[in-house]
Amino acid sequence: MATEAQGMAAEARTRVVHAVCSHDCPDSCAVLVTVESLANGGERAVKVEGDPRHPVTQGFLCGKVAQYLERVYSPDRLLYPMRRKPGRPKGPAGHGRDADAFERISWDEALDEIAARLAAIAAEFGPESVLPYSYAGTIGKLGFGSMDRRFFHRLGASQLARTICSEAGGVAFKQVYGIKLGTPPEDFAHAGLIVAWGANIHGNNIHLWPFVEEARRKGARLVVIDPYRTRTAAVADEHLAIRPGTDTLLALALMHTIFAEGLEDAEYMAACTDGAAELRAHALRPEHAPERAAAITGIDAETIRRLARAYAKAGRDGNGPAAIRLNYGVQRSENGGTAVRAVCMLPLITGAWRQRGGGLQLTTSGAFPFNGDALEMPELMQASPLGREARTVNMSRLGHALTELGQTSADGGVANGDGPPVKALFVYNSNPAAVAPNQNAVLRGMLRPDLFTVVHEQFLTDTADYADILLPAPTFLEVKDVQGAYGHLYAQLSQQAIAPLGEAWSNVRLFAELARRMGFAEACFADTDDDLIDQALATEHPFFAGITRQRLQQEGHIALALPGNAAGESLPFSDANWFRTASGRGELTPVPVFIAPAESRGGAACTPEYPLEFLPRKADNYMNSTFANIPRHQRMEARSTGLLELHPADAAARGLVTGDAVEVFNARGSLRLRAQVGGSVPQGVVAARLNWNKLSGADGAAANNVNALTSETVTDIGGGATFYSTLVEVRKVGERSGIETPVDRTPVAAG
Ligand code: SF4
Repeated sequence: MATEAQGMAAEARTRVVHAVCSHDCPDSCAVLVTVESLANGGERAVKVEGDPRHPVTQGFLCGKVAQYLERVYSPDRLLYPMRRKPGRPKGPAGHGRDADAFERISWDEALDEIAARLAAIAAEFGPESVLPYSYAGTIGKLGFGSMDRRFFHRLGASQLARTICSEAGGVAFKQVYGIKLGTPPEDFAHAGLIVAWGANIHGNNIHLWPFVEEARRKGARLVVIDPYRTRTAAVADEHLAIRPGTDTLLALALMHTIFAEGLEDAEYMAACTDGAAELRAHALRPEHAPERAAAITGIDAETIRRLARAYAKAGRDGNGPAAIRLNYGVQRSENGGTAVRAVCMLPLITGAWRQRGGGLQLTTSGAFPFNGDALEMPELMQASPLGREARTVNMSRLGHALTELGQTSADGGVANGDGPPVKALFVYNSNPAAVAPNQNAVLRGMLRPDLFTVVHEQFLTDTADYADILLPAPTFLEVKDVQGAYGHLYAQLSQQAIAPLGEAWSNVRLFAELARRMGFAEACFADTDDDLIDQALATEHPFFAGITRQRLQQEGHIALALPGNAAGESLPFSDANWFRTASGRGELTPVPVFIAPAESRGGAACTPEYPLEFLPRKADNYMNSTFANIPRHQRMEARSTGLLELHPADAAARGLVTGDAVEVFNARGSLRLRAQVGGSVPQGVVAARLNWNKLSGADGAAANNVNALTSETVTDIGGGATFYSTLVEVRKVGERSGIETPVDRTPVAAG
């Protein structure tokens, strides 16, 4: 009896809250948070687990989030507003002393100072001299873009083109299909051939994996196309180590074989596409023959032919159809938009969309018709001192924006026009000092003494090291939000599980309070979280039919109301009704033309000086730079920390063996790593992993990360970042013993 009573008491002290993982991941997991009441009247989350009722989460979380409470309750959390101490220079102090540069202040002091500084800067230089910088540190609708956008629109601040991750592919996909939709993850279980094209499913889309495995148990093959031997490639049936930036040509060579052998689905093409004849003629050109493509892609001709046949014939022989999981790595290349267009055309040629389990998934985000205009209120720009739409600054060119935009020229005029210089930078949901390309230019800009920088963060990131004012941000357990997904088709509501730690404020609260300080009187700045959720859901779009805040609060997740066929199946692009292009059909023109990226072995910028293609790859156990400071995650990534992976032939040509200290460099910068010689990359390619800058140096010294080498060149479509079009050279700077020869490593200086 005593045990039962104790058990009942314990139950009474806990409750389970439905939340949604808001990290930048296609899976958008449903998370059950167990919260325990404390004797002091407070509460503490004691367990997080995947919701078993969610059809895609299926009761498990990834390795990044399974022990999430270590992040939530980390002793390193930023819990209070802080201000840079007088006289303390911007930039990392090193040796774990970065926090020494700041002193604690109240929220009132922080808001007063921010409001005063922004008002003064806007008055002197124009409001466009204020630049917000945010991305997908949270992908909840309220946290990603709602009150923050209202605030900056009303201020007249520069708009930010949020291009750094997926814009090239997203725009490209829409050019072909008109809407960002794809094969539902559950349907991959019905595929007979799965092609993971630039998709590390096992590493960063783990909730697709059970469906892939289910398909494989029924006989499906998994083929991975990726320059890097990812976790997924290692367990696939076949890994094709394509050379970076040559995906368009591989897709054209596959089309070449399909058309040459009459394997296309002419009936589907006639019913659902425009431009079939033009594409056919283009694909059949001799330069797209597998033999010609083999020399450039690095994949032999017979393998290309075999894949083309298997791809086209899948679904026609009693086995399941072919499904492509295309991911965004492919489009982070100079011509990556075209590459996505080319790959996305493959299921339009074979008609793979017609069968359950066939088709392609790049993203499902376009299936969620959230009312973005109601959330962000772009019309507030008209009420700003500008009285017009503000200029737009591309986030993938932050170094340029901070060091060149609107700067005074030698003759006293304004050079590099397009408006005023950036005088205030407001960073939230992002860590640009680590993740933005051309890092040395970014850091030079952030070091500017005349730049007023505010950073809203959970931890003392690389970007926080450059802040004038630091503000504490909550984790997803500490806020309420509504969320879609880009890897499944369920709308979800994330309940606030626990009170914000310390004095952390949500984005909504931060920007609403700041608006009041700035004297913005519009009623929209008083909207509550629930008001905003209602506004986000306020649409007549049929996909959201029946989805309300009240229902989401009760049910946690609700399936989108996608149209179904006679069998009750929702098969995107299985007929012409699905397309949202101007023509109402899949667009096969303009035909995709392969052009080697300038920074690639076949490109115009390839010289003997920098002959190697560099892959600044992402960790399986971090989310870009998020989690890189958490000890558990560091342990999971220890195997590849600080390493440059090289092919044996490239290592031999430079006299390198595993363990040698190397410098990898180009004209933009350099970084120091240890050589790891092996088979993870093809010849001519080297790879290193993204990490925080200050976790990349030896002995706590400030350092660079992989973005010291990447460029601000933008993609052919969408103005996206081109991380994977980067040429470098490598040289030995120390023997395996660790004795190093000195090199100049001082590319960053105040500008
Ligand atoms: S990071 Fe992705 S896989 Fe991991 S819990 Fe979050 S949504 Fe799920």
